[in-house]
Amino acid sequence: MKALSHSSIGLYKECPQRFKFRYVDGIKEGPRSYFSFGQSVHTALEFMYRSQLIAPSLQEILRHYETHWVSEGYASAHEEQTKKVQGARMVEAYYDKHIQNWQPAMATEHNFSIELDGAQIRGKIDRVDRLPSGALHVIDYKTGKSFSPERTQEDKQLTLYQIACEESFGASVEKLTLYHVPSLREADSPRHSSQQVASLRREIIQVKISIDQKVFDPKPDDYKCRWCDYKKICPAWVTPEAPGQPAKRGPASPMLKPLPADIAPKKTFAIPAPPPRGAWGDAGPVRDGSTAAPPWVAGLPAKSKETTVELINRAIKKTEELNAVLKEIRRRLPGTNGF
Ligand code: SF4
Repeated sequence: MKALSHSSIGLYKECPQRFKFRYVDGIKEGPRSYFSFGQSVHTALEFMYRSQLIAPSLQEILRHYETHWVSEGYASAHEEQTKKVQGARMVEAYYDKHIQNWQPAMATEHNFSIELDGAQIRGKIDRVDRLPSGALHVIDYKTGKSFSPERTQEDKQLTLYQIACEESFGASVEKLTLYHVPSLREADSPRHSSQQVASLRREIIQVKISIDQKVFDPKPDDYKCRWCDYKKICPAWVTPEAPGQPAKRGPASPMLKPLPADIAPKKTFAIPAPPPRGAWGDAGPVRDGSTAAPPWVAGLPAKSKETTVELINRAIKKTEELNAVLKEIRRRLPGTNGF
């Protein structure tokens, strides 16, 4: 098994099936603008502390930001340009606030790979400073909109970084910081307790055992699945018999109320009972949308054959009407992109 990371462990806990798609099957998700934005700002701040002699000028940092800008995942050139300007302002404000106290970092973008109770863990720490006491100070930059300073006391990513730093540098960590770049706010915490370290180790081991045992059950959730790139191939949403169709075992549809009159079906209809399982064959009209009669119809008397084919075609037509109604409902439900 490949090495785990803070984000892959988090992904497994969120949805083991999604973890499998990404890390076991190797199916990549589409780029996200917020990852690109975060990466661009992180790279600029890393550049600011990379030198061990003198601080770079603001112009040098902004030039680095410009040349290392990650443009993947934006919906439009306009959106990308707006975020680029916003990121440059953030970097500038950060520089203005901190340049007076600039000191070279002990490490920036520090890649680590450690073994924890048999599990290989890798990651990258934004910045590590050496405190006057000789102990270490771990800093993690955040570029998202929301920020909860109290999170610093219990952030598992910081606990992991504490363990990794102590293994990598052979010195103890004294201080942990989450730095919210958009608001220039920082929240500090003393080193995390041995109970927090033990709890994280237990969690990592549990995840590793589950992965080794190939436990990859989907955890469907309306909100999360809506933004998941794997929804179209996820077993929680797709029946094995009809790939691409919503599975009955997906989350319950919100359409429990009577339909508005303008989109309700005009009249009721009865769908004929299906033939015995296995009799449809693979080329029937219900399966592939063609109008050819399925093989099991061939053996019927002529009159029954006509009636049956007509009933099937009527059922197909009604299914199409019903699909159109569902599509319209989906369109009208606020904030719904599918369910
Ligand atoms: S669609 Fe939902 S259940 Fe399926 S992989 Fe994505 S998050 Fe998991």
